Amino acid sequence: MRLSHSLVPTLKEIPAEAQIASHRLMLRAGLVRQTAAGIYAWLPAGLRVLTAIGQIVREEQNAAGAQEMLMPTIQSAELWRTSGRYDAYGPEMLRLKDRHGRDLLYGPTNEEMITDIFRSSVKSYRELPQNLYHIQWKFRDEVRPRFGVMRGREFLMKDAYSFDLDYEGAVVSYRRMMLAYMRTFQRLGLKAIPMAAESGPIGGNLSHEFIILAPTGESAVYYDAAFEKNDYMGDAFSHDSPADLERFFALMTGSYAATDEKHDAGAWADVAEKREGRGIEVGHIFYFGTKYSEPMGLSVAGPDGRSVAPHMGSYGIGVSRLVGAIIEASHDEAGIIWPDSVAPWRAAILNLKSGDATCDALCESLYAKFAGQALYDDRAERAGAKFADADLMGHPWQIIVGPRGAATGMVELKRRASGERVEMPVDAALAKLL
Ligand code: ATP
Ligand code: MG
Repeated sequence: MRLSHSLVPTLKEIPAEAQIASHRLMLRAGLVRQTAAGIYAWLPAGLRVLTAIGQIVREEQNAAGAQEMLMPTIQSAELWRTSGRYDAYGPEMLRLKDRHGRDLLYGPTNEEMITDIFRSSVKSYRELPQNLYHIQWKFRDEVRPRFGVMRGREFLMKDAYSFDLDYEGAVVSYRRMMLAYMRTFQRLGLKAIPMAAESGPIGGNLSHEFIILAPTGESAVYYDAAFEKNDYMGDAFSHDSPADLERFFALMTGSYAATDEKHDAGAWADVAEKREGRGIEVGHIFYFGTKYSEPMGLSVAGPDGRSVAPHMGSYGIGVSRLVGAIIEASHDEAGIIWPDSVAPWRAAILNLKSGDATCDALCESLYAKFAGQALYDDRAERAGAKFADADLMGHPWQIIVGPRGAATGMVELKRRASGERVEMPVDAALAKLL
């Protein structure tokens, strides 16, 4: 993209309405624009980040054997009456009426809909297990939308739903998602802590929230320092091996974390070194058994011919919240520092003297080689403004092209994360980045 003809409205001044760094930086870097309380338009640079995060989530869900589909945002109230949640959900649900006076709602989640779809087409235990997911906008009329996209009213979520014949199968599905989640967060450049969460009336220990540590997190967290040391992922665990998944789960849940320091005094007794911080919830996985399959009449023919209600789980990731969470975890005074994996562009090309024939020609040839993976700052702006905007926008690399270097085919390469700047021939810079 050429910055001179792009909608990337960067701001020098600090927006007064934003209380936390990620919200300020998302507005200042021109990623989003608020259109109503808790509702945001994603501008071109912001959408590229959102899409990159969604793609990593998608790849890891697919690798874990989940199937992508797409369910609508608008759902019928009838469907939610069959589970009893239409009345139970409360004011967070946005309720609508169509022209015939029928009750509709903007989906806050999709358990009912997926159960209904599954019920109409899956008849035998031989078709289990299955896991279905989509990446779709949700609406929750939060009492206090705040912190920008971190607690919006309309937000993008990946939600997956697993169906197994029995509890033992559901446990394997649950562990497989936990592995997929840890890999996802690692690829996003984040260190996530899986924390046992309230599992409600169903009981058991099969509900975990994934927490990113950041000083501006909404909830306090207390955790075993082992979480900081463990290098969990590697590729040491396979999605296909129940034994691997069991080992992985034991490793993940072997260290203790909680939002309440006093909760479960017994568990803390074993923790050598207790740490205290604040956390952002970026994902939540949940086993809920037959909570929806039973009342909604989802059953399959079991191995002995008798019908059984499948055991289900649901698995959410806050895709749009992650944009803010990543910035909270990775920024400095000058701006955002995108991890390479989610950056809107791999590099920015800064033309320090737009209009100068040598600089222009060199920048154009560089820009063409990146084939859409670079942002070209071709504006007629001062060099200082270009440096400031590039730092603010957080491109992993900056290729700085000035008249003196350009004359001899030299550019400067700056790594945003370290601030390191190295002068090198154009070809060497290209070889490093492409
Ligand atoms: P929270 O406690 O933060 O309200 P939740 O328990 O309501 O979250 P879930 O129903 O588990 O959230 O939804 C799955 C994921 O969706 C959450 O882990 C979070 O990352 C994301 N999410 C939930 N509510 C919002 C919101 N209002 N804005 C942005 N993302 C959200
Ligand atoms: Mg909530």
